[in-house]
Amino acid sequence: LNRRLAAFGTTIFAEMSALAVRTGAINLGQGFPDTDGPEEVREAAVRALREGRGNQYPPGPGIPELRSAVAEHQLRWYGLTFDPDREVLVTAGATEAIAASLLALVEPGDEVIALEPYYDSYAASIAMAGGTRVPVTLRPQGNGFGLDLDELRAAVTDRTRLILLNTPHNPTGTVLTPDELAAVAELAVERDLLVVTDEVYEHLVFDTGHTPLVSFPGMRERTVTIGSAGKTFSFTGWKVGWVTGSPELVTAVRSAKQYLTFVSAGPFQYAVAEALRLPDDYFHDIREDLRAKRDLLAEGLTDAGFTVFRPSGTYFITTDIRPLGESDGFAFCRSLPERCGVVAVPNAVFYDHQDQGAPFVRFAFCKRTHVLTEAVTRLKGLA
Ligand code: PMP
Ligand code: GLN
Repeated sequence: LNRRLAAFGTTIFAEMSALAVRTGAINLGQGFPDTDGPEEVREAAVRALREGRGNQYPPGPGIPELRSAVAEHQLRWYGLTFDPDREVLVTAGATEAIAASLLALVEPGDEVIALEPYYDSYAASIAMAGGTRVPVTLRPQGNGFGLDLDELRAAVTDRTRLILLNTPHNPTGTVLTPDELAAVAELAVERDLLVVTDEVYEHLVFDTGHTPLVSFPGMRERTVTIGSAGKTFSFTGWKVGWVTGSPELVTAVRSAKQYLTFVSAGPFQYAVAEALRLPDDYFHDIREDLRAKRDLLAEGLTDAGFTVFRPSGTYFITTDIRPLGESDGFAFCRSLPERCGVVAVPNAVFYDHQDQGAPFVRFAFCKRTHVLTEAVTRLKGLA
């Protein structure tokens, strides 16, 4: 393994899901729903397969039906206009969108600012692109995690090429406020930075709406926005994601994408085009379902003795394990299946400053209610 990747080892999600399988524990580690997305969307995929749509290489930028559906989605939810032919690109999940964006836009040695804790593929993708990661740490603030805008401003240097943003934020569940987004946008304009913004949890927000960063003044030409069908429609295995942005930026990302996967997920692209056009009720219902699950797990974890940081979005809850007399999230997560039959993820893997992340542990709540209830019962046995 080369030096760029040697530091990264096996992703925590593979390690923890393997641990769950090995021990038979309830898997609240890796974030994937235990119920598949809508029946009609699955049927749409089957229809495409049977009718021979997408069984051969789809067009490089994605099938026109899906690119139009993505553009319609941005207009319907945010009033944003994108040209489906020049400003939308279909990718192999958000993961490829992130990698292709960084490979396309970062020169070796450029600095890339990322909010810490960061989704684990960010660090590896920045490294693969030859960039230097500059983490800006979100810190506990009230009953959530907050961004210090002065720290963000101070992190920008003459070498900064782009900010890799994520809101709603995995793993903390933080949703940046419109004021915070406006400040990020002002900084990007002032320092002439690009922003790659990972908004895959855009529909999984509980307390406020989601505001795309690209909607702020000066951002239209400098923002690459990333979405994914995995999260919004509960089809994480399909790996259908997309990028929206200016023609220049989307063309750049496509230049990298064409040599990573070229294309992917032919028949699923047809199904996701239908999914994006589902009535408002679908989007409302998944949010309300997850809100109830957030409340159930948050209350259960509190009762079990954890300090709970209440997420405003995503399907993750970050907790502090110190009230349980623990301080090392890694050791805690490795022993948890044995001790009580539950798997979680240590947030330290999402930090450069490991000491900052050590006492935090993440639980996923995108699971059936009875599974969450059973997990809570088991976790209460810890005390
Ligand atoms: N970004 C974030 C913040 C995520 O949490 C995830 C998936 N868990 C991804 C990107 C990857 O999405 P996909 O499965 O569409 O590649
Ligand atoms: N995004 C999911 C999570 O954060 C899992 C992604 C993965 O397994 N690579 O848990």
